[in-house]
Amino acid sequence: LQHLEAKIENKVSKDFPTVKFLNYKNRKRILVTGGAGFVGSHLVDRLMLAGHEVIVVDNFFTGRKRNVEHWVGHENFELVHHDIVRPLYLEVDEIYHLASPASPPHYMLNPVKTIKTNTLGTINILGLAKRVGAKVLIASTSEVYGDPNEHPQSETYWGHVNPIGPRACYDEGKRVAETLSYAYMRQEGVSVHVARIFNTFGPRMHMNDGRVVSNFILQALQNDSITIYGSGKQTRSFQYVSDLVDGLVALMASNYTQPINIGNPVEHTIEEFALIIKDLVGTNSKIVELAAVEDDPQRRRPDISRAKKYLNWEPKVPLAEGLKTTIMYFAKELQKTKHSQKN
Ligand code: NAD
Ligand code: UDP
Ligand code: UDP
Repeated sequence: LQHLEAKIENKVSKDFPTVKFLNYKNRKRILVTGGAGFVGSHLVDRLMLAGHEVIVVDNFFTGRKRNVEHWVGHENFELVHHDIVRPLYLEVDEIYHLASPASPPHYMLNPVKTIKTNTLGTINILGLAKRVGAKVLIASTSEVYGDPNEHPQSETYWGHVNPIGPRACYDEGKRVAETLSYAYMRQEGVSVHVARIFNTFGPRMHMNDGRVVSNFILQALQNDSITIYGSGKQTRSFQYVSDLVDGLVALMASNYTQPINIGNPVEHTIEEFALIIKDLVGTNSKIVELAAVEDDPQRRRPDISRAKKYLNWEPKVPLAEGLKTTIMYFAKELQKTKHSQKN
């Protein structure tokens, strides 16, 4: 058997140089919903490189086949085009449940669908987990804290969310997803993990994502005006995507079942953030102030004591380093777009 495994490993490593080959005992079948999206595709890379079998379920609303195409054809990988609002029947050991639009312009495009995805979709995933006895990790969000009255936000804070505002489809959708997770845990014994993810950035963010990182970088790269919504005094704390993936994998491996913040506690005003990007890109872009958006949270910074204590996790990538990689990614994407427009 060892000889056979070595032979297969040799074949795999020829096609996919860095894939390890796990023996059957350690290899898991892992479902990643939303695996063709920004965060999901980085997580898929990590799980595939560790030698697991990975099934991606995605309806390609905001995700793209391109994000995972390098795995298509690999024997450990499967890409399923499916909308999680409808039931799905698979046999898996672990589920990372990431399917949901994440950027405000995307989730506001179809608020009803955003609610259905986070409620009905999450029920289907928890129903599946219950049937097959899989561990589930739910991708929740710092938005469950709304426009917070407590700063920094720790997991014990219950939040301050407008239930009928333009962000409610997402914020309340995720709050129900959390409620559902703990109801399935208490009533049905499902093993759940809840990650409250704070603002994350990196390569493979959608060009038209509309979030601040992609907007500012693209504006700076094209010498367009950098658009600040409102005074620019509102704050956010940005984490690089590889740190988030480390945190998600550590959470899944742990026995910790309470919600846990995964984010980088280094906080900046949006105005400072615009200047940092302007400086890193070296652009002449003007910085302009546009109207404030409704219900925009004014301050956001994670308290990550829980993640440090229970997962031995903290972010490693400094903001400037992560931004440089992301700027290079967007510069290449712009070149590709220009090239395809010419042809
Ligand atoms: P993304 O939009 O890039 O990825 C979401 C993926 O889910 C996409 O591939 C999309 O096509 C898929 N999807 C959406 N609705 C679906 C449905 N009904 N059925 C099947 N697939 C569906 O977003 P992301 O930034 O990668 O976010 C991933 C997860 O992390 C989301 O659940 C999001 O709420 C959460 N999150 C992200 C951030 C962040 O800053 N990126 C912050 C907090 C929470
Ligand atoms: N479900 C699913 N896949 C499964 C098991 C369940 O999609 O493998 C869906 C099923 O359609 C159901 C939901 O998950 O509507 C919740 O399942 P649960 O067992 O809690 O509810 P019930 O089937 O008893 O209504
Ligand atoms: N923002 C901005 N200009 C932009 C996009 C966003 O000033 O072009 C602001 C936005 O109002 C918010 C912050 O940047 O205060 C983060 O916005 P994003 O949409 O990235 O994420 P979220 O509000 O969900 O944290």
